[in-house]
Amino acid sequence: MRTLVGMISLFLILVSMTSTPFGAQTPPAAITAIKAGRLIDPETGTATTNQVIIIEGEKIRAIGANLAIPTGATMIDLSKLTVLPGLVDAHTHMAITYKEQPENNYYYLTYVMESSPLRAIQAASNGIQLLSSGFTVIRDVGNNAMYADTALRQAIEQGWLPGPTVIPSGIIIGGVGGQFWPTPEMYKQHNIVYPEYIDADTPDEIVKAIRQNMLFGARTIKLCIDCKPWGYSVEDIKLAISEAAKGGCKVDGHVQTPEGAQRAIDAGIYIISHGNALTPEHHRQMAEKGIFLAGTDTPFTKYRGSEAAFKQTVAKLRDAWEKKVPLTFSTDFDYWNERMKDEKTGEWLTRGEMTIAFLDTWKAANIPARDILYAITINGYKAADIIKERGPIKPGFFADLIAVPGDPLMDIDALRSVQFVMKNGMVFKKDGVMTPEKFFHPGPVRTPSGRWTR
Ligand SMILES: [Zn+2]
Repeated sequence: MRTLVGMISLFLILVSMTSTPFGAQTPPAAITAIKAGRLIDPETGTATTNQVIIIEGEKIRAIGANLAIPTGATMIDLSKLTVLPGLVDAHTHMAITYKEQPENNYYYLTYVMESSPLRAIQAASNGIQLLSSGFTVIRDVGNNAMYADTALRQAIEQGWLPGPTVIPSGIIIGGVGGQFWPTPEMYKQHNIVYPEYIDADTPDEIVKAIRQNMLFGARTIKLCIDCKPWGYSVEDIKLAISEAAKGGCKVDGHVQTPEGAQRAIDAGIYIISHGNALTPEHHRQMAEKGIFLAGTDTPFTKYRGSEAAFKQTVAKLRDAWEKKVPLTFSTDFDYWNERMKDEKTGEWLTRGEMTIAFLDTWKAANIPARDILYAITINGYKAADIIKERGPIKPGFFADLIAVPGDPLMDIDALRSVQFVMKNGMVFKKDGVMTPEKFFHPGPVRTPSGRWTR
């Protein structure tokens, strides 16, 4: 009898543990109501006025002009602003900052001189700076030391700190050497290529490298298609695509030669990174196959780039747009120097401000504001493969949204002065000031659901 009572009570304990995690009572989700003066739908390139957005906990519940506001809801008045979905940088590097001093811009040296923990903390800071400029999603595609990128994703998902939704690649996979040209001593005795790159030359090595990255939390796979003359063949790339698909990951190819671009296109890759080597014929094929371009279109500023390179970048971006390639907004940001100051105020520019400054290239290419907005939102969510749950301002989606003065459908530069940022239903920035206290708590209380891995 005693054993039976014991078993029944154990059973009840187990039932209570599975139905309410940690045995705690779940409080009802907080309700927030946002009054939006203007609400942009970048999918259609249209705006509606005087909308109310009801948010319950982390998600959007309803949107409309004449919605009843639930009693007890927290009101947020954005009636003088334009509300739109959060922005996406589809190619960046959060956990690397190579510098003119002391590394002379050699990122080999950054990797030797800065530990993975230090680089993970830089990534956390960069995430906060990007979120403040309205970037709620970023694709973080390698050169992040020993998985600082997947750690950043987990930390943000668990709720340790505010930041964009991170789609990390883990370590870049390439043929022997990756993007480095090490000496034999450094390569053989010091294993200097890893962890910036995983050497994967044969089909078995490619499969193993992809599994390793997914095991450690990657959400996309990055291949060096042609970093070396012995780059990947069409068969190699197809193998990578099918292996990555087993873990729900799409493949992004770093491309720097026309031949590499053609092999990536022939294999049916999901994203091509860097537009420099692409020809009009490549653009035509990419449009036909629906391959996303993360062109990493660097503007010419006093801290980066050259006029000649800029002209070529603008011409290539313009051609890709004319040929209707699915374009994303992307930067390849991973550097810092002493000249990164606001010319008027003399203040340091944040990583977010320098990221949104890439609009300069899109404006120089004369791409209409509405199409830039589509690239920096809708195509970004698609390239990140999250569009079914996050991005668009629709009922059932995570409440990620930003607000700006003016109308970015008329003047895209409105995106440079983000005044309000909400991520997962929590206010991160209001009246142009960061107020992220609600994101901080003494433990990982948020458990993201529905995924087979950490
Ligand atoms: Zn890059």
